[in-house]
Amino acid sequence: MAEEKAENNAERWEGSPESISYKPGKGAFLALLAASGLGLALIAFSLWVIPTIGLGNIHPWLPYVLGGLVLLVISFLLIGTLFIGIAALQGRFLVKSTMFRGLLVKLFLPVMFMAGGIMRIPRIKIERAFIEINNRMVRASCGKRFKPEKLLILMPHCIQFDNCKIKVTRNVRNCAACGKCEIGELLSLADEFGINLFISTGGTVARRKVYEERPDAVIAVACERDLTSGVQDAYPLPVWAIINKRPHGYCMETGVAISEIRQAIREMIT
Ligand code: SF4
Repeated sequence: MAEEKAENNAERWEGSPESISYKPGKGAFLALLAASGLGLALIAFSLWVIPTIGLGNIHPWLPYVLGGLVLLVISFLLIGTLFIGIAALQGRFLVKSTMFRGLLVKLFLPVMFMAGGIMRIPRIKIERAFIEINNRMVRASCGKRFKPEKLLILMPHCIQFDNCKIKVTRNVRNCAACGKCEIGELLSLADEFGINLFISTGGTVARRKVYEERPDAVIAVACERDLTSGVQDAYPLPVWAIINKRPHGYCMETGVAISEIRQAIREMIT
């Protein structure tokens, strides 16, 4: 019924596919990833070299014990860099472990932002590439294993038609599915699969919803910045992140490709 209404409505808003590039270049991301991995390995190596002289005075074996530990850390960092790089290049992840996703989310990404700032690479480029690779990792490490009722679709409030008087943030089922924005279609999609849909007024409310609902995984739609911080905050919870469309700019009648959400659902549910 929602779809019929949407089709019949002459004022149906389609959004603008041109508003965002869904295929971000990976060159800058890979360069930053390699620089971050090598930089961290170098720091770890320095942590061994510098105190080695002093440790040798305490016990002759201590420099080698510390050296072994540092070697493990360096190996882990370099292997992580390699695996994440392969995931970025080939779209497949060699090890189905959330550990490497954590390495990217919690360690490499902040270092890459710092390195990107020094190299004057726009932050949004790093965020777009990160989002794409995060989704690949989520699919590789934990895809197709969630029950629909344990999934949560999180949408930003700015997707709503600006002049709509209906309050959907408390209860999305208040939506009359008039077709002027995509909330009606999203509701139909959520009902089709039996998934919980929530329209959030902001990041704090979204985080509280996740805390209250305790889903096994989240499909989130937002701008690059909000998605990146959301994925970081939610880790280890898997978040499939979808960048919104912004035909009117940020935070104003944004949109989303429903087909992308449908695909994400299919990739995640059992
Ligand atoms: S939220 Fe309002 S404008 Fe959007 S589909 Fe529902 S009723 Fe229509």
